[in-house]
Amino acid sequence: MRLKAARLSRAASRAETGPTMVRSWDDLNYDILMGIINRVPWRCRLYVACLRRYLCFLKHMLDIKAVDSCSALCIGETVLKAHKYVYIAKRTPSLQWLVISEALCYRYSCFMQAMRYWRKLKKVKCPVDLFVFRSVCFEKVESLQLFGVVYDAAAIAIRDRCPRLRRLYLISCALSITALSTILDGHKRLEVLATRHSFCVRDCSKTARIGISQSVEWNEEEIRCKAAGIKLHLRCTKQHCPKCSATWKHCYPKMKGRLANYRCWRYI
Ligand SMILES: [Zn+2]
Repeated sequence: MRLKAARLSRAASRAETGPTMVRSWDDLNYDILMGIINRVPWRCRLYVACLRRYLCFLKHMLDIKAVDSCSALCIGETVLKAHKYVYIAKRTPSLQWLVISEALCYRYSCFMQAMRYWRKLKKVKCPVDLFVFRSVCFEKVESLQLFGVVYDAAAIAIRDRCPRLRRLYLISCALSITALSTILDGHKRLEVLATRHSFCVRDCSKTARIGISQSVEWNEEEIRCKAAGIKLHLRCTKQHCPKCSATWKHCYPKMKGRLANYRCWRYI
């Protein structure tokens, strides 16, 4: 009787009315399902045995595994295909801490689809472009570390789309001339700002393309005034930092390959 009722449940669920919930086969607990099947008369046991194997097969082959409570994910230098990140993201909707290695540089497209499933992020480290194209996922972010080129549109996105931001880390980034000023305009309650080894550039698109650039001077006075309310501002003193005093600076310092080598870049 119960088996028959369960078979009918899928059709019944379409016509569901009132407070009584009729659940489909897909919603049944696996152990309960097996309990029902075990009550089938012995003549049908062969059929049941086949069905059990089939259900086990379905459980592993179909996408019906339970979601994971994982709250942190660290992605290193190995890049998976986009659909694999989507698979991970569907099972980690509670993810709060996402770290993507700087070694991936500007490669962000493989994360684009997966980001749709992570809406509870609070602490993120990722490429600038991923942040810009998926900034709707960063509304709850409190701590943000970006790497790459912070152009004007990226600065506006940081200013407007992260209302809960308290800690911002822009380390070894190339920033447009107005980027930092724009960001600080929108974050009066920022507690920590790190701009170590970051530098100002005139042409962001060219810098993003080749990963290296000469810098121009910051508007120190303007930045100092706007950052006055920040509890901790971590930055370099140019004269005492080899990276900041170099003529050519990398916005992807951990990049591996020929683009990281200035002597090779000259022949591109
Ligand atoms: Zn430095």
